[in-house]
Formats: sequence, C-alpha cells, structure tokens
Amino acid sequence: MQPKVSKFGGTSVADADMIRKVKAIVAADADRRYVVPSAPGKRSKDDQKVTDLLYLCHEHARQGIAFDEVFTLIARRYSEIAEGLGVDPELQKHLEKVKQEIARVAADGGGPDYAASRGEYLNGLIIAEFLGAQFFDAAELIHFDERGKFDEDQTYRVIDEKLKGSQLAVVPGFYGSLPDGSIKTFSRGGSDITGAVVARGVGASLYENWTDVSGLLMADPRIVDNPKAIQTLTYRELRELAYMGATVLHDEAIFPVRHAGIPVNIRNTNRSDDPGTMIVPGNGSEKHTGTITGIAGRKDFTVIALEKAMMNSQVGYGRRVLSVLEDHGVSFEHLPSGIDTMSLVVADSQIDGKLKDVLEALRVEVHPDTIEATPQMALIATVGRGMSHIPGMAAKLFGALSEADINIRMIDQGSSELNIIVGIHADDFETAMRAIYKAFVG
Ligand code: ASP
Repeated sequence: MQPKVSKFGGTSVADADMIRKVKAIVAADADRRYVVPSAPGKRSKDDQKVTDLLYLCHEHARQGIAFDEVFTLIARRYSEIAEGLGVDPELQKHLEKVKQEIARVAADGGGPDYAASRGEYLNGLIIAEFLGAQFFDAAELIHFDERGKFDEDQTYRVIDEKLKGSQLAVVPGFYGSLPDGSIKTFSRGGSDITGAVVARGVGASLYENWTDVSGLLMADPRIVDNPKAIQTLTYRELRELAYMGATVLHDEAIFPVRHAGIPVNIRNTNRSDDPGTMIVPGNGSEKHTGTITGIAGRKDFTVIALEKAMMNSQVGYGRRVLSVLEDHGVSFEHLPSGIDTMSLVVADSQIDGKLKDVLEALRVEVHPDTIEATPQMALIATVGRGMSHIPGMAAKLFGALSEADINIRMIDQGSSELNIIVGIHADDFETAMRAIYKAFVG
C-alpha cells in the first residue's frame, strides 16, 4: 500500500489533549506513516502561538534585550504538553540549547529563521516519542540552495534515501536547511509546504491536511449564513477560489502535490469522522452537473475602460495598451473586451499612486475616444467544473443579481467555462454574494 502523509496544523497540536486526538487518528489507519506537525498554535482565541513567541525572542535578542520572560512562556508550554502526555524527550536539555542558540544566532547577526523553526522542532520531538515514531530533523531532509530557493532535486533525493524506509516517522514542518547547514524556514504557515513536499517525496497516495475546520466552505461564512462544505474540488477550482480570497491551504503547498497528481484531503482533527474536502487532480472528464463548487470574491479593484471606434480593426491596439501598463510596472487581473471597447481590471495595490500617470500615458499612446476609471470595484467568481456545457448557468447568475437590484459592471467568463466573474460596486459585494449562493445552492 502507498503511504499517506498527515500534516497537523497549529491548533491540532496546541496541547496534550489535542495531541492525543492526533495519536488516535494516526493509529486508526496503518497507511498514515508520515506525520508532519506544526508548532503549538492557539488553544483559545486570546492565546499565543509558540511561533510568534519565538519570533519575539529573536527580536529581543537582536536588540540586546533579555528574552528570558518570553522564553519561559515557551518552555512552560512544552513542559505542560510533555507532562500531559507522559513523555520526556530530554526536553530541558533541548530547551536550554535552543535558548543559547537563539542568543548566539542573533549576536552573530543571523535572521529569525532558527528561532522560528524551533516551535516545530520541539513539538516534533515530543510527538515522535508519544507516537512511538522515528524523529527526523527537517534540516536533514528539506534543502534550500545558496539563494534560499527550495532545492527540489536534493530534497527528493534525500527523502528517498532516508525517509522512505521508515514505518512511522515524524518530520517537523516549516523549515529546512541551507547548504552551510543553517536553518531556513518557508514563509509563515509553511508547514503545509513541508507536508506536501514529504507527500511527493515518499510517493504518498494521499496528503491529509488536518486542521480545525471540516474542509473548504462554498462561501465565506462571515457573509453567507452556514454555507455548505465542499466535498470535492479540482486543483484548478481551488486555484480560482483561492485567488479570489478563499483561504485554507498555503498557496505554495499545492504545487508539489499537484505536480505529482496526489489528492489532498482537508480534515478536522476535532471531528475526525467528517470526510472533509477532497482536492483532486481532475482530468477534464468531470460530470457536468449544473452545480457550482464555490463562490469567492475580493474588493479593491479599479477598472479602466477604453473606447475607440474601429478598435477591432487596428493592428497592435491591445499590445500598445498593455505596454503602457508594463511601462508603469502594473499587472492586470482581467481584460474583458468588445469590438470597440477594452477594460483593464487592476488591483488597487498595483495602481495606487500611479492611476493618473497611467491614464495620461494611455491617452497619449492609444488616443481612445473615451477613457474612464471606476474605482471601488469588487469581483465575485462563481466557480464550478460542473457549470461548463450547461446552458442557463450564466442566466441564473445574472438573474439572481438583477433580482437583488445589483448593477453588473463587468462580466468575464474564463475560457475553460470553469468560472464566471462579475464586477460590481464594492457596496454591493455582500448582497451579491448572498444572492448568488441562494440562486445556486438555496
Ligand atoms: N508555525 C509556523 C507559523 O506559525 C508554520 C505553520 O504553522 O505552518 O507560521
């Protein structure tokens, strides 16, 4: 049987009780042979994440301020966990060493990566002993090159050599090492990436991502009341939804497993019987069910609309428009066009402070008959592999918005028919989201 890789997020390993749940989950399936834990996360809303405290230790050390007090909080957290589980992987010795090294690295002018990585390292030691699993230091498995770029070739070679034979292994998430042996972390939330890398490295049949929600929801629960969970979605749908603001998995975490065609299962450690959300490669032969997968949206866009009679017959018009954006270092998100019109949808973060110059340059370069910028636009994507080849999906969407009295200012249907994006005024965002959900889901 091919193994499964089970990554547990910060809240899933926040204290001894949670780690007991982790053990039960791992024990329930003999294929769960690789466990990737995060550092202890929040136990309640006002609690602190160990990783944040470790960054603070480094920052204090760097500024020459004593960090004993903060470190004591960290040490206490781990002691409680170890005592609660009845294990002792020589914790005091490790804590002492970590404290000294944080001071040394900071004194040598090093960055925060060493300190930050110790959250996963220490938790990994404890969890490995509690599970009766072999502990692997991620510094020996996950490699970065001199420029700090993830070194795929070396990492997968080493995983193949060292990790593959293990019956039950714990690999702490979030970090690896540079060629000189020093520690380097992925970006924040990066244990997801470690899990995906291990899954690809050992040729897993499944990458399980255990967290505190039962998978992805069809819409943002802060806007739509009690949205349904998504059972299955493809990597491409996830990309569309994530781009539009739906978050669960670290973006970069998708690439290693997607590349290898390994499905990802998002599960809830507190409700381990829930099937969660399955993210699958998708081979284009999905059923066209007429249903949607999810809705997501983002505010803070500006639309620049250009009109020019006979635009369609002018060779190079589009290229000249886009070179103006390029010259100003502005990327665009969407480019809906008609025979005599073209709209550029840009994120405000791109165009802020540059809008006037861009408009002026467009006037000079492409002589539009009219040019108009509309700020405060929101985009909503309705995404679903089941929508393609089904007549009436767009009509349903536009009907729902018209019934809710919402003016659609832009429409963009991806060429894959996987999504329909509408541009509306930011003030209509929440109403539009609810109207679309109601029309398709009920
Ligand atoms: N502990 C790290 C963080 O807080 C990495 C992770 O949890 O994925 O960012």
